[in-house]
Amino acid sequence: MAPSRTGHHCSHGRARARSGATTCLLLRLMSAPTLDRRPRAQWGTLPVAPTRYGQSVLGLPLEVWRPTGRCEVLLFAAIHGEEPETTWALSRALRQLDGPLAHAAVVLAANPDGLIRGTRGNANGVDLNRNFPARNWQPGEVLSRATVDAPRDVVLHTGASAGSEPETQALLALIAELQPDVVIALHAPLACIDDPANSALGHRLAERTGMPLVPDVGYATPGSFGSWCADQALPVITYELPVIAPEDTMAVHVPVFVDLLTGTLR
Ligand SMILES: [Zn+2]
Repeated sequence: MAPSRTGHHCSHGRARARSGATTCLLLRLMSAPTLDRRPRAQWGTLPVAPTRYGQSVLGLPLEVWRPTGRCEVLLFAAIHGEEPETTWALSRALRQLDGPLAHAAVVLAANPDGLIRGTRGNANGVDLNRNFPARNWQPGEVLSRATVDAPRDVVLHTGASAGSEPETQALLALIAELQPDVVIALHAPLACIDDPANSALGHRLAERTGMPLVPDVGYATPGSFGSWCADQALPVITYELPVIAPEDTMAVHVPVFVDLLTGTLR
């Protein structure tokens, strides 16, 4: 594992992570039905239809693939609309499995308006990942980088009030309904596993992806989904894909997402 940018490195967690993974896998082999992998000929379409959990500012459906059983993990992609690689990778994983999923819920586009327009924010110019009603939410501007090396100078807003946006409200309602054990939020392109809890799952993801495990992304994110989760004591892992092309997601990240969806990595 490469050292992280923040210098956080936890080697003693490795053994615990391995034994945790083994226990988890054994329990699943004994008790849980395993999802069949679909032949490649069927990877062109999604295995089952999603249901709607809300509507975007522009009226697009907010879609979720709900599990048949208890929700152990919720994965969501593209809360930042200009991170479409998160949607590619998660969709590719979902399409490899015969649905419906047993214990994982999937949202392929938490910000569909941003995704179709290629903007980080939603149609109101709000960075949804600064709009959550966390205790540290702040009104005003939020600055982001045009590229990873650029200064933080692109202006969006945090919303008229905490939780003001329909996409934020719908995701909160979905989480209240599903009660997931852990949420994995997909972002790009910082190339790290951000896990404030330093959990066994975080260690397994870092090991599988070769990306560093870090306790934060290195800058303040008031009103972020992660901040809200911290207030609720809801475990969250922010999975930051590296700079990547669609083709490259198939080598490392899609197999990791497949294992998260089937439960073999949890
Ligand atoms: Zn992002």
